[in-house]
Amino acid sequence: STSEAPIVIVGTGLAGYTLAREIRKYDKSTSILMITADDGNSYSKPILSTGFQKEKTPDELVQFQADVMAERLDVELLTRSCVTGIDSESKQVLLDDERVSYNRLILACGASAIRLNLSGDGLKHVYSINNLMDYRAFRHALVGVDRVAIMGAGLIGCEFANDLRSGGYNVNVIAPSESVMPGLLPPIVGDRVIQSLRDEGVCFHLGVVVERIDETSDGLSLYLNSGEILEVDRVISAVGLRPNTVIAAEAGLDVAHGICVNRRLETSLPDIYALGDCAEVDGHVLPYVQPLMSCARALAKTLTGEPTDISYGAMPVMVKTPCCPTAAYPPPADVHGSWHVERASEDIKALFRGDDDKLLGFAITGEFMNEKQALTKELPPIHN
Ligand code: FAD
Repeated sequence: STSEAPIVIVGTGLAGYTLAREIRKYDKSTSILMITADDGNSYSKPILSTGFQKEKTPDELVQFQADVMAERLDVELLTRSCVTGIDSESKQVLLDDERVSYNRLILACGASAIRLNLSGDGLKHVYSINNLMDYRAFRHALVGVDRVAIMGAGLIGCEFANDLRSGGYNVNVIAPSESVMPGLLPPIVGDRVIQSLRDEGVCFHLGVVVERIDETSDGLSLYLNSGEILEVDRVISAVGLRPNTVIAAEAGLDVAHGICVNRRLETSLPDIYALGDCAEVDGHVLPYVQPLMSCARALAKTLTGEPTDISYGAMPVMVKTPCCPTAAYPPPADVHGSWHVERASEDIKALFRGDDDKLLGFAITGEFMNEKQALTKELPPIHN
C-alpha cells in the first residue's frame, strides 16, 4: 500500500533541500526519498554569478556533498536519476526501468535554460549556467581565454557581465532589448546599470541579436543581425528559463507557464505538490529564493498535518551587480499608474505609483538602497 511509501521529493535544489529540512523540524520519522538528475551536492545557486568577486572555485561553492546531506536530513537520496514519468493512479514515479511508490509526491524540479536556435559550427562553445555542474564546465572552459560574449541582458546576464569583468575578462553583452532587465527595471534605471557596467569596461550591443556562431582559427565569430561581427572565445546564453513542466503535463497535471498549484501548493491531482522554479503558485511564477522559502515552510506544515496556505508579501529582487547595487519590485502588469524619478548624483530612485498615489513598484540604485526596507513595507502584499 502507498501509506507506508515515502514522501518523494523530485529535485535537490534550494526548493527540494529546504523542504526536506523544514519537514524534519516537525517530523523526524516519516521516510523521505529524494531523487535528483544531478549529483545532489548542495549549493546556493545565486552565488554562481558571484564566483569571481568572491574568488571561489566551483568546488568551493559546494556547501555539502550529497551523502552528507542525506545523512543530515535523514533521507534516502537517489542521485543522477532522472524521473521520466508519474503514474498518479498507482501513485508511482517512473525512473528509467524502475517504479517507486509515493505517499505524497513533491515536484521541485526547477527550470531549464532556454536555448536559442542559432546556426554555425561554434555552438559547442555556448554555455547556459543554471546549476553548479554547468558552472564547473564553464569555468573549465574559461581557462586560457579572455573574451566572453553574453547573450541576454536580464538579471543573470548582467550579473555574469559584472562578475566576469571582475575576473578580468573582456565582456560583450548582446540583447534585443533597448535597455537591461526590461522585465524588472524601468529603462531609466536599466540605463543607469548599463552606464556603471560600461564604466567597468563591459561593451553593450543592444537592440540586436546573434544569428550565427562560427569557430575560427583563434576563437569564435559572432554574427549579429546588425551586420557587426564580434570575435570572442566563449559565449554564455542567458536568454531566460522555462519551468520544467513536461513530466507534470504528461501525467495530466494542470500546467500553464509553470506547474499550476493553489496556495496550499496542491497540483490538480491528489497528493502531488509543487514548489520552486517549476511551480506557478496561484498564478505567480516567481523564480527566486524568497518565494520558494515561503513555500517550503508552508508545505512542510501541510505535509506534517497542519494544512497551511502560503501568503506572499511583496518580495523585491536584489540585482547582484556590485558596480551598481540595485533592487527592484516591478509593478503588476495590469495596473494603471506612472513612474516618478528622483536622482542623487548618479543614483536613482524610481517609484511606480497607482492612480490613487499608492506605491505599487520601485527600482532603486546606489545610495537609495538604504530605503529598500521602508519601500517594501509600503507595497501591498501579493496575498492579503
Ligand atoms: P533548481 O535549483 O533548478 O533544482 C531543480 C532540481 O530538480 C535539480 O536537483 C535537478 O537535478 C532536479 N530535476 C529536474 N528535473 C528532474 C527529473 N526529471 N528527474 C530528477 N530530478 C530532476 N534568486 C534570488 O532570489 N536571488 C538571487 O540573487 C538569484 N541569483 C541567481 C543567479 C543565477 C546565476 C541563477 C541561475 C539564478 C539565480 N536566482 C536568484 C534564482 C534562484 O537561484 C532559483 O530560483 C532557485 O535556485 C531555484 O531552486 P529550485 O530548487 O526550484 O530549482
